[in-house]
Amino acid sequence: MSFKDLKLNKPLLRAVAEKGYDNPTLIQERTIPLILDKQDVIASAQTGTGKTAAFALPILQLLFDKQDASKKGKKIRALIVSPTRELAIQIQDNFKTYSTYTNLRSTVIFGGASIEPQKDVLRKGVDILIATPGRLLDLHKQDEINLDYIKTLVLDEADLMLDMGFIDDVRKIERLCPESKQILLFSATMPYKVQDLAKTILKDPKQVQVAQQSSTSKNVGQALYYVPKPKKIELCLHLLRNTIKGRIIIFRRTKYGVDKLEKTLLKNNYKVDSIHGDKSQNLRQEALNNFKKKTVNILIATDVAARGIDIDNVDAVINFDMPNVPETYVHRIGRTARAGNTGTAYSFCSADEKAYIKTIQQLINLQLDIVEDHPYPLDPKAKPPIHKKKGSKYKKGRKSEASKKKKKRWY
Ligand code: AMP
Repeated sequence: MSFKDLKLNKPLLRAVAEKGYDNPTLIQERTIPLILDKQDVIASAQTGTGKTAAFALPILQLLFDKQDASKKGKKIRALIVSPTRELAIQIQDNFKTYSTYTNLRSTVIFGGASIEPQKDVLRKGVDILIATPGRLLDLHKQDEINLDYIKTLVLDEADLMLDMGFIDDVRKIERLCPESKQILLFSATMPYKVQDLAKTILKDPKQVQVAQQSSTSKNVGQALYYVPKPKKIELCLHLLRNTIKGRIIIFRRTKYGVDKLEKTLLKNNYKVDSIHGDKSQNLRQEALNNFKKKTVNILIATDVAARGIDIDNVDAVINFDMPNVPETYVHRIGRTARAGNTGTAYSFCSADEKAYIKTIQQLINLQLDIVEDHPYPLDPKAKPPIHKKKGSKYKKGRKSEASKKKKKRWY
């Protein structure tokens, strides 16, 4: 199938051709006709499948007819809600590219950045708004955003959005848009809570599914190292010295872990940068650019910060900490061996993480290759340390509002 067969108009076809896309991807082939037909859609697809264009192209086409309203008269007619700033920026980049030969305007708003410039752009008038939930509600409350004219609402990475605690915000945003709108829900995984959300807000949705990428791809080698927790750093340095070459993403569970590992690798003269939720927007973007432009070849990240980021040509992924959610393992290793390339995932498992391996192997229906020949083996009898609950001498709920607000994010 070609993009022409999808009945896209000339300005969009031209932009797509210039971007170098020959044919639509599977998700595009299946989703674009449904969206053009104004149906609600629930799609399970990960980043890397071409899902952004799968909703961006038909949205642009639907808005194209009324694109010539004077700038001042522009109303927001498509709203894309995205859980993280990086994803939101990436989505707007896509919209900008595909709308090159139209008069449609888009903008992106997100928290952690100055609000005034965002207000200025909104006041000038846009057709398409890409937003993270908190900043969107904030600007709506300040009367800077009118959602009364929304024709299409996209909830992107819905599972991550709910994992990050945005469920109430998402429901609120949905209610702020007109009843008659079209809703498109994209999610990498479909846990019960996402299905439940879909059931309550989508109308007779059409389901689209594309196979999970890379999960059992034969292009990804999946090596498993059993190693005592305190020896993980040494194992990492050993492998970087001797085995793992090229562009590498290392995943850690917490921002503290990311910072600690970054310091160690910098001390050992590696070219490293990192992203996590406590870094400013500018620093996160800079780190991504450094990695994309190959100024550094190692990126250390938490799952939330790295989710959905479009980075190609990663040679290896290191699971420095094993993820406790098996789907996260699939997301992580999906960063390598893209587009027919090969890659390897290295997983470090300590005694307390053994149970995670079992659920991961069940999910991917594959045994990981255990590497026994390395300098820091884990005693097979090693038991996970038992942390006794100390319990607080204070009653639950004693925290003041001020101290709750200070609570730092761990991702
Ligand atoms: P996404 O899943 O939307 O993050 O897209 C992943 C990557 O695929 C992006 O770099 C897109 O530019 C690229 N892409 C999207 N659609 C196509 C297509 N039809 N042909 C080739 N590449 C594409």
